[in-house]
Amino acid sequence: MMDGQKKIFDPTDDHISRAAEILKRGGLVAFPTETVYGLGANALDERAVGKIFEAKRRPCDNPLILHILCADEAPLYADVTPEALALMERFWPGPLTVVLRAMHNVPLAARGGLDTVALRAPANPVALALIRESGLPVAGPSANKSGRPSPTRATDVLNDIGDSVEMILDGGATRIGVESTVVDATEPRIAILRPGAVTREMLAEAGLAEITEPCPRSPDKSRRSPGTRYRHYAPSVELRLWEDGSPGVFGGESAWCYMGMKKPPEGALRTIIFATPEEYARGLFSAMRELERCGAKLIIADFPDAPGIGEAIRNRLSRAAGRQ
Ligand code: AMP
Ligand code: MG
Repeated sequence: MMDGQKKIFDPTDDHISRAAEILKRGGLVAFPTETVYGLGANALDERAVGKIFEAKRRPCDNPLILHILCADEAPLYADVTPEALALMERFWPGPLTVVLRAMHNVPLAARGGLDTVALRAPANPVALALIRESGLPVAGPSANKSGRPSPTRATDVLNDIGDSVEMILDGGATRIGVESTVVDATEPRIAILRPGAVTREMLAEAGLAEITEPCPRSPDKSRRSPGTRYRHYAPSVELRLWEDGSPGVFGGESAWCYMGMKKPPEGALRTIIFATPEEYARGLFSAMRELERCGAKLIIADFPDAPGIGEAIRNRLSRAAGRQ
């Protein structure tokens, strides 16, 4: 962003109203959620949705999440099953995205051509105020260039896609740091398509729906997550995973840096240590962005075996390292 034009704004009532006006006339606004920053557009406006794909250079078959206020709004856009409703009532507002059969009013562009739609009510006061003020379902993928680490601070959005948005609402660093859990709830048995802060354990404990494994080769497209086909979340330098019993990852490189919970051997150019899995999740993407600029050719990341949010961390790290 070289033009010096002011893009980042505090989330005052006045700025939120201005952002809502931009959405209503088909423009793009970045906003904070509790997971990562979202790139918002009117989900019902095909042209506005097209601008999201252009700004992110996102493959057009990778569908968007519609951000709404609450479960009451879900039937406007989707065929809400009893299991899905129970999940929404238990986990919304919060980091759970529910995939359901779509109503015809949701443009195909927002659904990546599928007959399903992804819905979420975010637990962030700025995001909720923006949705309420605009009166719209807000399509909001992560506000990064496709393939880059997701943005967890307003400046990350500015650096990646600042030229494409009219306004970035600054809600500070995001609380959770990894994107929402995505579940396919088109059938009574749900499938976790992307792990997140609503963990497998939390979904199982809630006992609201039986959990089945997603099938990557399923002929039913709705049981797959299109986003998982693409390399993702990757910093601009190589990222290598440090698993228990694989000390070899540290050998032979001239300059490496490190992030994780375990203490690394001596010799890192720069080290970022997290005390808990929650802290690791929160700092994962900003650490990638910081370490790719520290001058090292290689980032070594601790691959944690923690349960709960550990599954989301392992998923993002695997993808960033080019594993599926
Ligand atoms: P992002 O908005 O960047 O957090 O990515 C949204 C994620 O939700 C991607 O992994 C998509 O593949 C997934 N998603 C969105 N809509 C659907 C859908 N209708 N069916 C399956 N996955 C979806
Ligand atoms: Mg994303």
